[in-house]
Amino acid sequence: MSTAVRASAFTEPARPKGLLIRFVTTGGSYVDVTGSGENAHDNRWSCHGCGDSSRSPEASYLFRIRPDANDHATACRAILLT
Ligand SMILES: [Zn+2]
Repeated sequence: MSTAVRASAFTEPARPKGLLIRFVTTGGSYVDVTGSGENAHDNRWSCHGCGDSSRSPEASYLFRIRPDANDHATACRAILLT
């Protein structure tokens, strides 16, 4: 079984204000990281595919949020329903 990320088969959603990073997921959806950036602690991630989002903590520094968002994008197989 291949786990390689493939190009999304879905139309990319509009990019929200404050979007810092957008990861494509294994399922072809997207995980968005939003917030004020590297030196702020209000950054968070949310998944367009399954609706999951960052927690524990919900918001934090980018160096903590980035790997969690990337790990979710690697694991998530939900597809966009819009
Ligand atoms: Zn997800």
